[in-house]
Amino acid sequence: MNECRAAVITALNQPLEIQRVPVPALQKGEMLVKIEAATLCGTDIHRWHGPMMGTDTLPMIVGHEPCGTIEEMAGEKRDIVGRPLKKGDRVVWSYVACGNCYWCTAAVQPCVCPDRMSWGHNRSDQPPYLLGSAAEYMFVPKECHIVKVPETVSSASAAASACAYRTIMHGFDNLGAIKSHETVLIQGSGPLGTFAAAVAKDHGAKSVLMIGAPKNRLEVALRMGVDEALNLEDVKDAKDRRAWVLDRTGGRGADVVIQAAAINVIPEGLTLLRKGGRFLNIGIGGSGKAPIEAASIPMESTIITPLSGEPRHWLQAIDFMASRHDRYPFDDMISKSYKLDEINDAMQAMAKFEVVKAVIYPHAA
Ligand SMILES: [Zn+2]
Ligand SMILES: [Zn+2]
Repeated sequence: MNECRAAVITALNQPLEIQRVPVPALQKGEMLVKIEAATLCGTDIHRWHGPMMGTDTLPMIVGHEPCGTIEEMAGEKRDIVGRPLKKGDRVVWSYVACGNCYWCTAAVQPCVCPDRMSWGHNRSDQPPYLLGSAAEYMFVPKECHIVKVPETVSSASAAASACAYRTIMHGFDNLGAIKSHETVLIQGSGPLGTFAAAVAKDHGAKSVLMIGAPKNRLEVALRMGVDEALNLEDVKDAKDRRAWVLDRTGGRGADVVIQAAAINVIPEGLTLLRKGGRFLNIGIGGSGKAPIEAASIPMESTIITPLSGEPRHWLQAIDFMASRHDRYPFDDMISKSYKLDEINDAMQAMAKFEVVKAVIYPHAA
């Protein structure tokens, strides 16, 4: 195979093109994966609309949430828990930090390594070409940690674990134990917030509350561990939302607030947190200013802002879904599927918030 099809952003805000992109020859330790499913994420839409981030330049293959089967492997390889890999295994794979900088070594915080390798923003006209997931195949660098996907996890849900869900696992790792008397409030009813609800409930929260919209997303969330949801479209005044939370938390505010919406809801989230509570700040979308009343930051509170995940968080997300698949309907968070040729419909639907999570099946006829 010399080439394969991929959905390429050639100009900001313009329709994506389906192009034929070279398939690179593999060096020892590298893999080529046949993409089974690629879910889209808000970040893909930001990259399409611009402005460009960091050193990114066009053209780029969109998508950074892949799940695929191993098509080709140069040499022997093992997965993250030491099991041998073979052609045909269904897998997801981690990002790669440099391993040599201050953050990788002294701080041991590889997620903020400035030289971290990630996907969905790499040039498709330069080797190794295939580093975006909306394509028939993807190149997997030798440093990636590989996680096998058990049969009980769909390819679409596994793909979503490659961004949204592993970030949630990272957040919970940093948050520490949730005690059985604690109430968790989640801001945002997209895949991040909804997956966080399932994890919070599973980790022992007494009660999981959610503030979000629209109704159809909240209905999914109520099946995913949320005990009570407040629809933003019905309750438009922040004072009333705060009263709703205080009513359910003995007038104190939530023990844990998880911001899984966008940065502009941080100020409100801080008003919903009790003194001494923990604020998990995960939704990094949005732009502009979100002025915070400095005195509104609860005394003794902790603010945790995880970015992305370490290789173990990919494993944790996949294991969580595999072992809890009979308790939570994970696939309900994937709202619509598209063929590769329909990439522009999928991107538009995501941009207009018509779908919670779009999934591309690049080999669908
Ligand atoms: Zn993402
Ligand atoms: Zn580094």
